[in-house]
Amino acid sequence: MVRYVYAFTEGGRDMAGLLGGKGANLAEMTRLGLPVPPGFTVTTEACRTFLTTGGEPAGLAREISDHLSRLEEAAGRRLGQPDDPLLLSVRSGARFSMPGMMETVLDVGLNDDSVLGLAKSSGNERFAWDSYRRLVQMFGSTVLGVDGALFEETMAGLKRDRGAADDLGLDAADLAGLVEAYKELIRREAGESFPQSPAEQLQRAVLAVFRSWNGERARLYRRREHIPDDLGTAVNVQCMVFGNLGSDSGSGVAFTRDPATGRTGVYGDYLADAQGEDVVAGIRNTVPLEELGRLNPAAFDRLREHMATLEAHYRDLCDIEFTVERGRLWMLQTRVGKRTAEAAFTIAAELADEGLITADEGLARVGGDGLARLMFPRFDTSAVGDPLAHGIPASPGAAVGAAVFDSAEAVRRAAAGEKVVLVREETTPDDLPGMVAAQAVLTSRGGKTSHAAVVARGMGKVCVCGAEEITVDLRRRRFTAGGTTVEEGTVVSVDGSEGAVYPGAAPLADSAVMRYFETGEHADGLVDAVARAMEHADGVRRLGVRANADTPGDAARARRFGAEGIGLCRTEHMFLGDRRQLVEAMILAVTDAERDRALGALLPLQRRDFAGILEAMDGLPVTIRLLDPPLHEFLPDRTELAVRLAAAEAHGSPPSAHDAELLDAVNRMHEENPMLGLRGVRLGLVAPGLVAMQVRAIAEAVVERRRAGGDPRAEIMVPLIDTVEELRLVREEVERVLADVSAESGMGVECPIGTMIELPRAALTAGRIAEEARFFSFGTNDLTQTTWGFSRDDVEAAFFSAYLDKGIFKVSPFETIDREGVGRLVEIAVAEGRAARPGLKIGVCGEHGGDPESVHFFHSAGLDYVSCSPFRVPVARLEAGRAAL
Ligand code: ADP
Ligand code: MG
Ligand code: MG
Repeated sequence: MVRYVYAFTEGGRDMAGLLGGKGANLAEMTRLGLPVPPGFTVTTEACRTFLTTGGEPAGLAREISDHLSRLEEAAGRRLGQPDDPLLLSVRSGARFSMPGMMETVLDVGLNDDSVLGLAKSSGNERFAWDSYRRLVQMFGSTVLGVDGALFEETMAGLKRDRGAADDLGLDAADLAGLVEAYKELIRREAGESFPQSPAEQLQRAVLAVFRSWNGERARLYRRREHIPDDLGTAVNVQCMVFGNLGSDSGSGVAFTRDPATGRTGVYGDYLADAQGEDVVAGIRNTVPLEELGRLNPAAFDRLREHMATLEAHYRDLCDIEFTVERGRLWMLQTRVGKRTAEAAFTIAAELADEGLITADEGLARVGGDGLARLMFPRFDTSAVGDPLAHGIPASPGAAVGAAVFDSAEAVRRAAAGEKVVLVREETTPDDLPGMVAAQAVLTSRGGKTSHAAVVARGMGKVCVCGAEEITVDLRRRRFTAGGTTVEEGTVVSVDGSEGAVYPGAAPLADSAVMRYFETGEHADGLVDAVARAMEHADGVRRLGVRANADTPGDAARARRFGAEGIGLCRTEHMFLGDRRQLVEAMILAVTDAERDRALGALLPLQRRDFAGILEAMDGLPVTIRLLDPPLHEFLPDRTELAVRLAAAEAHGSPPSAHDAELLDAVNRMHEENPMLGLRGVRLGLVAPGLVAMQVRAIAEAVVERRRAGGDPRAEIMVPLIDTVEELRLVREEVERVLADVSAESGMGVECPIGTMIELPRAALTAGRIAEEARFFSFGTNDLTQTTWGFSRDDVEAAFFSAYLDKGIFKVSPFETIDREGVGRLVEIAVAEGRAARPGLKIGVCGEHGGDPESVHFFHSAGLDYVSCSPFRVPVARLEAGRAAL
């Protein structure tokens, strides 16, 4: 028999898959002896069964009622008991935290009778009606599907009538009236009455939480966070405790360290006389957590104790939700908290210093994506003027964009290519699409734990919240701050690191982390923390890290960033600019002499290119790829040429002979599918003299560097091999040229000759190819295109977002390597290549080489190195270290 329900006393944190994160951690806190209101968890398995069959799992109702009986016994009160009702919260909680994305219903169990009993038993009539109106409102929107805004409007109308500044200005009679109005609203909108039966309320709330797994917000959030769609959510049913019992009660959220910077201290928000959902919803302004120390020192001290217990137990930053009921503290939630990249590095280093975690654990807790974010520039604070407004620095980084005031406008403008900043009084889960589309989120209310702050941090999006000087006028689509008015569409700059908003586009300054990589300068504690993570990663990683670089400047930068060589030096750009004419001449050459002249003119230029790069990478391997792209790319556009010729004809002027000749060549060379055309080794084999010229330039550059006392280590790489025959022919030619240059210079010029593996056929015949190749380098961009049968440029805009929507891709295969298909070809080629040639050196030089997840795959596939763009080199080093843990 499957079991669907576990009491909090039965679970533990290692059961997050089954109980969800919230349930597992509630159980863990219960086990630690912290004051958690008793309850039980309905498993994610029950949710999965419900979602696939559409019906309530068999036996679930029975299990729930058994567990409920136990709760009732312990509490000495029954659900729905008219004189003293037990009330419950029904809370969603998936394996991976999805803050605010699913539903929770509080105060379940109240009805027209028991609300009177609650008033009497608590001695607080206002509290009883406040709880009842909350239940009707949450049940109405969550379970019965009534638009939440209608409840808000009804309440706002009542507040206006009463001249109440906020909900505290409404008395018991007002709230009783509000309950009636809400019930009427439900009858009208949902076509049924608010259910009076507590058992029915509970049962329907549980199913509604299950359903909320597939709500639109939740799905969008999962897609962004790469959370699988089939996990389902657990449901936690828990005895209510009450923060809305007056001024000696309240609710709050707390972090054991600052989730934005990682600094230790007391961080959080508190709201007196409120239930928990009020804290994040921002219906009233919260106070900093330290205030609780003044309002209720005993509860505050207990809270600090429990925070210390949790941090020591989880050995990490924890975030916490709590409620104080008439001075008594209750813990309602904890989890290892989300944090910014800056906080992640800082906390990892500090916890290691405190001896709570090892260096390996510290490395496991930071990541390449975060590191990349820290390398972004920030605003140059010495150059910007006075800020328009200050707020809470909720998620760091610098962003510039046009102010927009709702989610739809943000989406619309972003789709048209405009950069936007979403400005809201506060955000709700409905603003998610706009937050995704925006460069930054700016709110005038709410603290570090508001919805805007939590979600933006999770996305790595710049966010300033609680900028109280700002007044948002949604109707006129503008905001004012101090004396300034900012209309929709006006550009503003948001500094999420400092918590400031500037008018116009503020100038950017380099980040300290970037400067550290460039110069080795240790500017601050964050840089120290990053440096320590990098050192540890370099110490444990097995994968080498090289860079893709085609100029001496890029090569030098890559070396400063820690590259151990060049894995891909493309030669294409060396044929562009004013050299294009020489290439044209080579293509148009009719006689051998004409061609030799063109190639001869290119030779010294190429030699200089290679010598510069070999100098920048002295002593380290430099893998130079022979010319790859289709020849037609070097010729003028066909339509343009034809138009020019036709125009000349129309004007009666004689068409230029050169143009006519060019058009002829372009027509000959033009390809419908250049990606699959005359490229790579094919080009080398049919364009006489090209390979020889490039190899001579490489070999002579090696000679030149050696004469200058250098240690050049050039490797020659042949692109787009399908079959070993191609490689054999090119290799023979390469060796002939190397022998010639050796003889001429009196120096033995030795360059290992290897090949790219970027076509499925090459991967499948890698054993044969390895007989001719000293090394392999996977070109995973082309290998992805040719394995899937689509060309990146054509398909990304055309259907990738639809494929991501439908879940066919979890992530674009051009971003993260497709392990199942492309990855399998890689594995085959590694195994067969090494079987034929033991010790064969193998790397990857596609863009996947700098993608964190892909780096982990290349590590486990046994590659020797990854090669990526210079700026991604630190990311690859870090991730290669993490992969080796
Ligand atoms: P979310 O996952 O969106 O944070 P929760 O299930 O944590 O949703 O519920 C939101 C808030 O409701 C909590 O922060 C807490 O303040 C309040 N809450 C939940 N359960 C209880 C309870 N048993 N007693 C009092 N308040 C509760
Ligand atoms: Mg919560
Ligand atoms: Mg390629």
